[in-house]
Amino acid sequence: MDLGLTGKQVCITGGSVGIGLAVARRFAEEGADVAILARDKERAENEAKRIEQDFQVKALGISCDVTKPEEIDAAAAHIEATFGGIDILINNAGTGSEETVMEATDERWYYYMDLHLMAAIRLTRALVPFMRKRGGGAIIQTASICAKQPLWYEPIYNTTKAALLMFSKCLSNELVSDNIRVNTISPGLVLTPDWQKTAGILSEKEGTTPEAYLDGIAKENAPIGRFSAPEEIAHLYAFLASDRASYVVGSNYYIDGGWLRVSE
Ligand code: NDP
Repeated sequence: MDLGLTGKQVCITGGSVGIGLAVARRFAEEGADVAILARDKERAENEAKRIEQDFQVKALGISCDVTKPEEIDAAAAHIEATFGGIDILINNAGTGSEETVMEATDERWYYYMDLHLMAAIRLTRALVPFMRKRGGGAIIQTASICAKQPLWYEPIYNTTKAALLMFSKCLSNELVSDNIRVNTISPGLVLTPDWQKTAGILSEKEGTTPEAYLDGIAKENAPIGRFSAPEEIAHLYAFLASDRASYVVGSNYYIDGGWLRVSE
C-alpha cells in the first residue's frame, strides 16, 4: 500500500532510540524527511546520519530537552530554517516513573507534566503554524496503556499520560478544521533499551536473567505472551499519519498484545 508519505517532513521527539527511532526509520523508509529531537546530541546526530545513508532522505538530529520551552523554540526554528516547515509531529519523548503519591515532591510531578504533557502542548503551538501554511498535517502522541490501566508503582507516569490522552482529544477537535488530524497511540509492552535496563537491574535482585525476567513480565501481562519490537508498532504511526487514515480523528489506538483488560 502506498501511504503517500514520500517528501513529507516529520518531527519525532525521543526519536534517537526505542519506539521513536523505529518510527523515524519507518517514515524514512516511506521516503519522508525526519527531524529527531532528543537530549543526547551525538546519539541523535548519529542516528540521523544512519537514516540518511539507509533511506536517502534528509534527516536532522537535533539536541532538545523537551521539558525546556526555550529548547523547543530553538528546535522549531532549526526545523523551519532547514525544512521550511513540517507536515507531521510525533510527540513521543517520555519515560516511566517510580514513586508513591505521598512521597513524590511537586518538582517530580512538574517534571513529568513538562515531559509528557507540556512538551506536546508547546511543540504543537510551535509547529502547527507551519502545518497550517502547508494546508494540513497530522499529529500523533505516544501515550501508554497506563493512561487507562495504571501500573501501581508509577502514579505520576499514569496520570501524566492520561492528561496527554485528553489533551490529544481536545486538540483533535480544535485542529480538524485546519485539515490537521490528531490521534494517540497507546502501546503496551515494547522491548526498548529502557526495558532492557530495568530488566538488568531487577533480574539481578530476583536472582534470574534479564531474558527470563522480561519473559515473565510478558507472560504475566500480555495475553500474546511476549513484548512487541519497536518496529512492529511503528507501522501504525505511519498509517495513522498518512492520508490512508483520512477519516481517523481524535482516536486512541491500543497496541498491546491484548493487555488492556476491558473492551475499548
Ligand atoms: P526510550 O527510553 O527507549 O527512549 C526515549 C527517547 O526519548 C530517547 O530518544 C530519549 O533521548 C528521549 N527523551 C527522554 N527524555 C527526553 C527529554 N527530556 N527531552 C527530549 N528527549 C527525551 O523510550 P521508549 O522508546 O520505550 O518510549 C518512548 C515513548 O513510548 C515514551 O513516551 C514512553 O512512555 C512510551 N511508551 C513506552 C512503552 C514501552 O514498553 N517501551 C509502553 C508504552 C508507552 P535522550 O535520552 O537523548 O533525551
